[in-house]
Amino acid sequence: MVDLKTNFSVLGISDLKTWFPIRRGILSRTVGYTRAVDGVSLNIKQGEILGLVGESGCGKTTLARTIVKLDPAKSGSILFEGNDILTTKGGNIRSLRQNIQIIFQDPFSSLNPRMTVIDTLTEGLIEHKMIPNRQKKDKALQLLNDVAMDSDSLYRYPHEFSGGQRQRISIARAISMKPKLIICDEAVSALDVSIQAQVINLLIDLKNKHKLSYLFISHDLSVVSYIADKTAVMYLGQIVENADTADIINKPLHPYTQALISDVPRIGENKDKRTILKGDVPSASNPPPGCRFHPRCPIGVQKCTTDVPRLENKGNNHFVSCHLV
Ligand code: SF4
Repeated sequence: MVDLKTNFSVLGISDLKTWFPIRRGILSRTVGYTRAVDGVSLNIKQGEILGLVGESGCGKTTLARTIVKLDPAKSGSILFEGNDILTTKGGNIRSLRQNIQIIFQDPFSSLNPRMTVIDTLTEGLIEHKMIPNRQKKDKALQLLNDVAMDSDSLYRYPHEFSGGQRQRISIARAISMKPKLIICDEAVSALDVSIQAQVINLLIDLKNKHKLSYLFISHDLSVVSYIADKTAVMYLGQIVENADTADIINKPLHPYTQALISDVPRIGENKDKRTILKGDVPSASNPPPGCRFHPRCPIGVQKCTTDVPRLENKGNNHFVSCHLV
């Protein structure tokens, strides 16, 4: 029987495009567009962690910023619990900002250096009138406890903490708003490997405790494979493969995903068997015709240079866009 509680879609993105105009000349005429996000469709169910992986500059962060309305979408739709974020206005944006929180890669720049931890953790709660002023300290202590930090952190400033501790404070601030979805944008990428594992395990615990869903964005497939239930692979503004994480790791179908997986070092592996991608990622302002991956694809054929492959279900909800799969 379908469990409606766990299959409820929290976020549904359909054919989303975020294009930035390229302006030239003294009249600042638009001469083209950088197609940072170009026709992305994704779905996140309640309680699910969707990993989004791809090389730096592929559009992952623009997608995250579009979801929280920091970057304007050109077209498409983003349904959050059935309501289109792109047409949300006025007071509903406030509710949206409460329900969708984002954690960035660099906690040092996302935390106000002049605010103590207690103020950082309770500022949003007081602004949204979710707690009275007198409950500030108790609430901040509870949040610190949630992220396994000492109570003596309350009146300290961000520069007094390590990178891992600062990221725990960012996480505590995000969960303080009782969100339904948290976007983790390279949230562990700047941390040492041992600290990465601790923060990822903390995110998993908090997800279960607070019934959260995550969009977990990373350039590192090994990190994504550890935390994500499903994984979408992004290349030059588009999703090229999307499936259960186990399928992506064990049976990658798209040549780009295969190259990303082969790039993850394994103990005892023969380095010569790795697939090294040739060339750089092309510019999103002038994407190649046909399959965008064709200039770097090790198995491409003539058709790939002219015909755009569609993202199709190849069975077991394993979606791939490749003419040869
Ligand atoms: Fe490679 Fe062609 Fe498949 Fe694109 S469509 S990934 S170029 S084989």
